[in-house]
Formats: sequence, structure tokens, C-alpha cells
Amino acid sequence: MKSYRIACIPGDGIGKEVVPAGQAVLEALAAAQRGFRFEFSTFDWGGDWYRAHGEMMPAAGLEALRHVDAILFGSAGDPHIPDHITLWGLRLKICQGFDQYANVRPTRILPGIDGPLKRCAPADLDWVIVRENSEGEYSGVGGRVHQGHPIEVATDLSMMTRAGVERIMRFAFRLAQSRPRKLLTVVTKSNAQRHAMVMWDEIAVQVAQEFPDVKWDKELVDACTARMVNRPASLDTVVATNLHADILSDLAAALAGSLGIAPTANIDPERRYPSMFEPIHGSAFDIMGKGLANPIGTFWSCVMLLDHIGESEAARQLMQAIEKVTADPRLHTRDLGGKATTEEVTNAVCALLAQNDRLRVA
Ligand code: ATP
Repeated sequence: MKSYRIACIPGDGIGKEVVPAGQAVLEALAAAQRGFRFEFSTFDWGGDWYRAHGEMMPAAGLEALRHVDAILFGSAGDPHIPDHITLWGLRLKICQGFDQYANVRPTRILPGIDGPLKRCAPADLDWVIVRENSEGEYSGVGGRVHQGHPIEVATDLSMMTRAGVERIMRFAFRLAQSRPRKLLTVVTKSNAQRHAMVMWDEIAVQVAQEFPDVKWDKELVDACTARMVNRPASLDTVVATNLHADILSDLAAALAGSLGIAPTANIDPERRYPSMFEPIHGSAFDIMGKGLANPIGTFWSCVMLLDHIGESEAARQLMQAIEKVTADPRLHTRDLGGKATTEEVTNAVCALLAQNDRLRVA
């Protein structure tokens, strides 16, 4: 029987609730499918680890993860630790250390979910946002001088490399090509940022020539926010820089009904390193420990994980179970206007997976 090694990093806040829920669902799926199993290892890195050790994860942490088949991540964020420490010390350390340069964020309005766009039919909103995940505005280049003095200067330099832009463009065109509409929107800001973003545009034109069957257009990032709201059906696959896609994908998640539903995958397309799957939301300390966290974003991330490791039939079954659960308003958590708890939603998904198994045996 095939066995997959999965590293679980719950991290902070509601990550500690949704990652065990994701693990429970993967276990239920493996029990129902019977063709494979999972070996989980959990790493308690994050804010508590920082308080005890002065770092978000151990220096040798990447080595401990290097040979797993995939990583299931919760969130990094703690009200008592500056955000740049929690982000750079854990999530970005893994993304950059494992060169997970493609961040993939699908968005759909799932059955039973009431999105805020009243003029939009659920089928109008079916996007995948591809975020450049290794450089750009989050490359970490910059510094501060004269700290605390009136002449203080601080810089954050956006670094774009030809190799980095080419590989993310190629990934996005390939993804667009694999989807039924074969439609890609390249998000830019080359009217105002006249060096790196102009190179970004030029590379899009060059890479497009390798994909003659993909229809593509270019959109300024500000105009793209309006297009997402006013003409959602005109978008399908979208590629954008690290910062632009970060913002656009939160908007996308909100337009799909809740931040609690949206999944994301940090992929190393060359498979030199493990890829990492996580809900798009953060630590949400305001609802932590109350059983209010919506685990659907984590479950959908598990669907992406299963697809990545090659278990696409299991991925399809899990997505089907998720959609059956969202279709039932009695199983909506508070962020969706319901009263269900994290545990109730998890149990419902697990029960549906077990039912599939019983149907198969019968
Ligand atoms: P961080 O600083 O780690 O990014 P945050 O609390 O600032 O965390 P998010 O966790 O992304 O930001 O979410 C903002 C709000 O959305 C939360 O305060 C919470 O009320 C709600 N929320 C986010 N995720 C979920 C979820 N899975 N289930 C229910 N509500 C959620």
C-alpha cells in the first residue's frame, strides 16, 4: 500500500484547530479509499515556540521537512509578536527555503454559499490566482538607517529577476492552458512602475508565444479589483506579483463568501522540495479556541494536496464531500451566518467520506 509522509504545522491561533481537522479528514479519506495511507508528523512551531526558543522554527527545521511528500500548514501570527517576525520566521522561511515559487489560489462560490455580489451567478466566479511567491515586493531586500532619528530612511526594494518572472509566467500559461476556457489575465502596474513591471509585461509577451492556444490579456492591478466585482465572468486564470496577488486573492476570497473557505498551495513545480498547502486565512485570534473556525479552507487545501501527490480520485471525492456540506446551511459556521462548530463540519465531511466507502463496498 502506498504511504505518503505529511508534515503538519498548525502554527498559531485557529491554525491549531483547522490543521487537526484537516488531518482527521485525510485520515477518513485514506480509511475509505484503502489504496493508500498517510504518515503524519506534527511540528509545534510558531508563536509558542518563539516564546520558548527565540525563533519561530528551529534552524535545522527545513531539514526535518525536506523528505516529506507534502506539508499541511495552518497559520503564523501572534498578537504579542510583530507580524514581520512571525511571517518571515516560519511561513516565508519554508516557502523561500523550498523555492515554492508558485502560489496557487482557486476561488469559486461553493454550493449553498451566499457571495456578496448580488448580480453574480455562482458559475460567473471561477478563478485561479497565481501569485509569484519567491521575489518581487517580498524579496526582503532593503534596510533602515538612522533609526529613531529625524533623518531615518527605510527601504523595501522590489526585486524581479528574468528567471523568476519567466518561470511564473510559464507556470500560469500552462495552468490556463489546462483549464477549459484557456484564458489568462496578466496583472501589472507598468504605467506607474516603469522598470520591473515593464520587464514583467515584456516577458508575458515572450512566454505567450509558447502557448498560442491560450487567450490572454493585460490588466492594471487597480482596474483588476473593479473588474473582479463588476465583470467576474471575464476572468479565469490570473497571474500577478507577490504583493498584487496577495491583495487580489483576499478580495477574491471575500467575493466567494468568506475568508474561511479559500485554499492555497505553495508549489515547487519542479518537485525538488515538498510543496505546502494552507488555508488563505490567518491566525484569527479573535475566534480562537471557541470552535468557530471554518475548516473548509483547510479541507479544500487538502484537495489541492491530494491532487499534487497524484491522488486525484481521492481529491475529487473530498471536494464532492465539501460541496455537499456547504450546500447544507445547518453545517455553516458563524462566518457564513450559521451556528455549526468546527467539529460538526469536520464530522460531517468525515461521515460523507465513510458513506462513499460503504456505497462502494455494497
Ligand atoms: P493574521 O494576523 O494571522 O493574518 P488576522 O486575524 O489578522 O490573522 P485573518 O485570520 O486572516 O486575519 O482573518 C480576519 C478575520 O476573519 C478574523 O478575525 C476572523 O474573524 C475571520 N476569519 C478568518 N478565518 C476564519 C475562519 N477559518 N473561520 C471563521 N472566521 C475566520
